[in-house]
Formats: sequence, structure tokens, C-alpha cells
Amino acid sequence: MSTLYALAYLLAAVLFILGLKQLSSPRTARNGNYTAAAGMVIALGATVPQLHFTGAGAIIVLIGVIVGAAVGLIGARQVKMTAIPQMVALFNGAGGGAAALVAVSELLQFGSHPPINEALPSVFSIVIGSVSFAGSLVAFAKLQELMTGTPITYPGQQLVNGLIAAAIIGFVIAVLAIASIPFSFLSLMVLALILGVAFVLPIGGADMPVVISLLNAFTGLAVAATGFTLNNFALIVAGTLVGASGSLLTKLMSDAMGRSLGNVLFGAFGQVRTGAGAAVTGKEGRSVRTSSIEDLATLLAYSRRVIVVPGYGLAVAQAQHAVRELAELLEKKGVEVSYAIHPVAGRMPGHMNVLLAEANVPYEQLKEMDEINDEFKDADVVLVVGANDVVNPAARTSPGSPIYGMPILNADQAKNIVFLKRSMRPGFAGIDNDLLYDPKTIMLFGDAKDSLTKLVTAVKAA
Ligand code: NDP
Repeated sequence: MSTLYALAYLLAAVLFILGLKQLSSPRTARNGNYTAAAGMVIALGATVPQLHFTGAGAIIVLIGVIVGAAVGLIGARQVKMTAIPQMVALFNGAGGGAAALVAVSELLQFGSHPPINEALPSVFSIVIGSVSFAGSLVAFAKLQELMTGTPITYPGQQLVNGLIAAAIIGFVIAVLAIASIPFSFLSLMVLALILGVAFVLPIGGADMPVVISLLNAFTGLAVAATGFTLNNFALIVAGTLVGASGSLLTKLMSDAMGRSLGNVLFGAFGQVRTGAGAAVTGKEGRSVRTSSIEDLATLLAYSRRVIVVPGYGLAVAQAQHAVRELAELLEKKGVEVSYAIHPVAGRMPGHMNVLLAEANVPYEQLKEMDEINDEFKDADVVLVVGANDVVNPAARTSPGSPIYGMPILNADQAKNIVFLKRSMRPGFAGIDNDLLYDPKTIMLFGDAKDSLTKLVTAVKAA
């Protein structure tokens, strides 16, 4: 029988890996989710019969499964696309917390001197899982605006965090080398929870997706460690995959923002920002060019090549269907349209791909930054829909700027640049964008969906 369980776990592991592979392309991502979910069902199916729960234990497990499944199902169905990062934070935190609790329960069973191969992964899981749980809850609260999104800092903060970390190391040594008593490992858990909160407080709300990705990697490692404690192959494989993919994603996101992970975690980025409701920050004395909808429609309709640059505002305005409609209309008029996707456009990895796929934009029209950056110089019009930082030339030219060094889309090289946004307000980085004042730039102020709908009507008439 145990060979059968081992084979089921192997099959589950293969499905997890295949699922991840499929998730790496928009074309196969939906199936990737199903593949990985099938792996999870198989892993669960092979685990439950081995638990031998009876009486009250079985009832508690059953209630847990029903409540968990209901919350997961309703949450996933109702969440808005813009709220996905905080939902991921909650799910991720629950995983880390569960791993830590399982490790505590294992240590309780082993008595005061557990074998090192049980104690070491358990202690690791308690620390990392608890940091991930508490940190994820703070990340959720920041993104859900239950607390301020601006970095919370105070003098000596790094020292305090360092002292908490030192105390954690002290208790780890106590549990491993002296005695594994509830006082020690529960204190360890409480300190790790405090560290999780303290670690995320000084990080700005808008940097949370990077932090959530890092905490996701933490949860994966905690789960893998729990797998070693429980001797469960499926947990080890799944946890390692989550740990590895979370770490890679964290690195990719920091690189795409042109910042080191250290800067994201300890830079208190956005501390001096005035927040989303800040006043217009146009540079004094500089004016911008605007145009009528009709003139813009004519410009678009008589172009040979149009590149759409979607950004966070596209998600806010839910303008993905309107932009696809405009693009289709232009194509019917013989215009070649493509979409330039910056790796950190929006507020979560793959944000733009998901939105545009939802609106059935053909995958072949979505071009990654490296693929399309040389083509901007041949574009007649770049239509910037609710994007800002990802086309801000300050990333190339202003060494003092917070986005200096971030690779950007070469929108400034196009013959005409049209910005669809509501005001002169900056984007996430909170800095002015010189491209808005460029003589080649035309501003179309208003909600992106409204502006696109008006453009569709006007292009039909052009
Ligand atoms: P930005 O945040 O730079 O700009 C978005 C723009 O959208 C704003 O200037 C805003 O201007 C406009 N906007 C907002 N609502 C609407 C609306 N309803 N209609 C029209 N326009 C609207 O977005 P980008 O996508 O260019 O850049 C993403 C930024 O987020 C980068 O700095 C990146 O580093 C950061 N980031 C990305 C993450 C990711 O994983 N993708 C994770 C964490 C951070 P206005 O208010 O005037 O309308």
C-alpha cells in the first residue's frame, strides 16, 4: 500500500512541475492551474487515508476541510482583479501559519529531547512559518487599506529588529541544544510572529507584491521543512517548488523595478510620497498638449503602426475590453497594433497579461519589453493607457530618481505619444514624468475606459 501512496505522491509532484511550466505562458496558464490542482487532489487523496483519524479528530478535520474549502471557493470567485495581491497574501499567510502549528504539535509529541532530524526542521518551520504568517497579515492589511500603506519607521528600528532576530536565534539554540519544552518553542513562535510584523511595517504598501512573493517563498520553505518532520514526500516537493518559484519571482520583480531586494525590504520606499490622492504635480510653468477626441481618432486611424502600453490605470478603469475593441477597429482599418508589456506594469506580476487575456486580446499581439523595445522608433503612435512609471525616461536620465536604473519601454522614441490618464498625478513611484511634457506627447485626460469608448466611436466615424 505504501508503494501506492509513494506513486501517488510522485504523480502529484510531476503534475505540480508540469503545472508550473504551463503557468509560464499566457496561452497555457489556465490549463497549468488545472494541472497543478489535479496534482493537489491526488496528493490529498493519498494523504487523508494515511491519517487514521477517529472520533473527535476526524470531525475537527472534516469541519476544517469544509470551512477552508468554502472560504477559498467564495474568496477566489468574488475577489476583484486589483485585490489579487492581498488575497494571495492571506492564502500564503495561512500556509505559513499552518506549517508552524504542525511543527509545534510535532514537538509537543516528541518530549523534551527530540531527535535532531525532527527538531531542526520543526524549529525552522516554526520560525519561518510564523514570520510568513504575521508578515502576510500586515501585507494584507496594508493593501486592503485597513492600515496606512506608507512605511512605518522609527529611530533604531533596524536595531530592534536585529535584537528580536538575536532572541530568536537564542531560543532556537535552547530548543535544539538544551531542551525542547513548550516555553521555549512557544516563545520562539511569539518572537517570530513579532518579527514578521516588524519586518513588514517599514515597507511601503505598493512594494507589498514583492514582499508577498518573498513571504510566499518563506511559506514554501516552512512547508518543505514540515514535510521533513512528517516524512511526507508531497509536502517536501510542493514546498520546495513554492520556495524556489517564490524566490525567483522576488528576484525578477526587484530586477524589473531596477532595485535590489535590500532596497525594497529596507529602503522604506515611498516614505515621502504624498499618496494616491496627491495634488497635481506638474512642474511649474510647463504646459502640456491636449487634443480633441476627433483629432486623436484621425491620428490613430491613419497610422501604420500603433503600440499600446497598458499600465495600472487600465486595471483601475477596467478598460481592457474597450482597448481591445479600439485595437480591433484600428486593425480593420489596416493599422498594425501590438501591446508592449513591461514586467512590472500594474501592481502584480503578469497583471497586464491576465487583464488582456480576459478581454481575449490575441497572445501574439502581447510583446515583452525586450522583444518590442526596438520597435517603438517605427511606431506612429504609442497609446499609453493608465501607465506612467514604466515609460518614465527619468529611469534612464536622473540618477537621483527612485526609479533610476529601472529598464523602461522606449515609448519616447515613437513619432507621437498619447497618454490616457485622469490628471497630471504621478504613478506608483510618486515622481513627475517628463514625457508628459514632451512636444510629441498629447494628453487625453479622463478615465481610461471613458476615453477609449469615446475614441472607438470617433474612429468608427473617421
Ligand atoms: P503607475 O503606477 O506608474 O501609473 C499608473 C497611472 O495610471 C497613474 O499615473 C494614474 O494617473 C493612472 N490612472 C489611474 N487610474 C486611472 C484611470 N481610471 N484611468 C486612467 N488612468 C488612470 O503604473 P505603471 O503600470 O506604469 O507602473 C507600475 C508601477 O508599480 C511601477 O513603478 C512598478 O515598479 C510598481 N509596482 C509594480 C508591481 C508589479 O508586480 N507589477 C509590484 C509593485 C510595484 P491619474 O491618477 O492621473 O489617472
